[in-house]
Amino acid sequence: MEGYSTAALRQLDHCNKCGFCLPACPTFLETGLEMASPRGRLAIAEEVMAGRMPLSDYVAEHMYLCLDCRACEVACPSGVEFDRVLADTRFLLNRAGIPPAGNPRMQRLLLGTVARPRRLRLLKGAVRAYQALGLRALARRPAVRRLLPARLRNLEAMLPDQAEQVRALRPPARKTAPGTGPGTVTVAFFPGCVQAALFEGTNARTVRVLEHFGARVVPAAGFGCCGALHGHAGDREQAKALARQNIEAFERSGAEYLVNNAGGCGTFLKEYPRLFEDEPDWLPRAEAFAARVRDASELLLELPGPPRWQDGETAAGTKPRIVVTYQDSCHLRNVQRVWQEPRRILRRLPGVEYVELPGADQCCGSAGIYNVTHPEMSQAILDRKMASVKGVDPDVIVVANPGCQMQMLLGVERHGLGGKVRVMHLIDLVAETLGL
Ligand code: SF4
Ligand code: SF4
Repeated sequence: MEGYSTAALRQLDHCNKCGFCLPACPTFLETGLEMASPRGRLAIAEEVMAGRMPLSDYVAEHMYLCLDCRACEVACPSGVEFDRVLADTRFLLNRAGIPPAGNPRMQRLLLGTVARPRRLRLLKGAVRAYQALGLRALARRPAVRRLLPARLRNLEAMLPDQAEQVRALRPPARKTAPGTGPGTVTVAFFPGCVQAALFEGTNARTVRVLEHFGARVVPAAGFGCCGALHGHAGDREQAKALARQNIEAFERSGAEYLVNNAGGCGTFLKEYPRLFEDEPDWLPRAEAFAARVRDASELLLELPGPPRWQDGETAAGTKPRIVVTYQDSCHLRNVQRVWQEPRRILRRLPGVEYVELPGADQCCGSAGIYNVTHPEMSQAILDRKMASVKGVDPDVIVVANPGCQMQMLLGVERHGLGGKVRVMHLIDLVAETLGL
């Protein structure tokens, strides 16, 4: 079928149908169905590519049940880049006007919101007003909760505490001076869309932590949504428009690195070259941009840091006060291959006992907007995750992506752990532990 890229077609040649990817796939583990596995989805795509199967609701159902977690890519011994096939098939479905399976109206609404700063500001204001007026407390009363539709109850549970986010905006009395002098790393900070609206305090802390660790964060304007949600939903043109905007904003900043604190966004930023493979004008700019993108955890291990940070002895002699576990962001781990860095940081924090979460490398069911468009599958995956969390019995679940953070907040509420287990971004825990 016309429309598949050469790179996507190549993946099918690489796949020898061995099935090693099946046990890594969350939707296969939930259903046990071949068609809900990477190999099954590749088989459907192969039929579509060969023109033996038309693009249809059936194809959309299977392509959108996929979380795009990319665990199959890590498990595959043949190096099949599953995402290339998935992205092209979703793009062709979108172009053919076949709506995404799940909840297309909700998907349209969410995609229309994240790319528009005005709507994001309205969202932030509405969530803050809702919580400040005490409506959250009201909605969480058992008698009221029972009356709320499940979808609304879940959305409510996912919202981060805005009072905490506003508190985090304020720098501590003893403010750290940004790094200066020759050799100082200059960075621009990528604020994201949902991250900037609902986790504004975490973003402010990321800048403070970077400066405390010795970087100089330069002012940069003009960044928008990374485009990941649009790209994953097959809207390639909108994803490209956002990518061009972000590339230009970074070029204007003059910084050495572009740092972000959201695993999903950072992955899409690093993969911008894929969007421009057939645009010679933009490809070199996208490649130069992607080479400068860093997750905050990557850079924190490269910067000078506080005393004894680089030799890993920051926590030496301190008594653990809290038990902390970590849930990987799928894209941060499976695509950026950043999974040791957050753990190394956690092990260096004073007062923290780090305990590995069994199955931390498996998706939590968030997957961008999947938890809203496919709530049943998402919650089944989340419930499996929470059983693992209960086994660890942590004080804090640490995450590195806003989607994971909201999903784990839902998990904590669903499993009666509210008030006992905190869900925190890695950077928030670093800032809190170091008094930043
Ligand atoms: S994608 Fe990789 S692991 Fe899965 S069936 Fe194909 S070759 Fe095997
Ligand atoms: S991306 Fe994730 S959900 Fe999709 S096929 Fe691969 S392992 Fe399964």
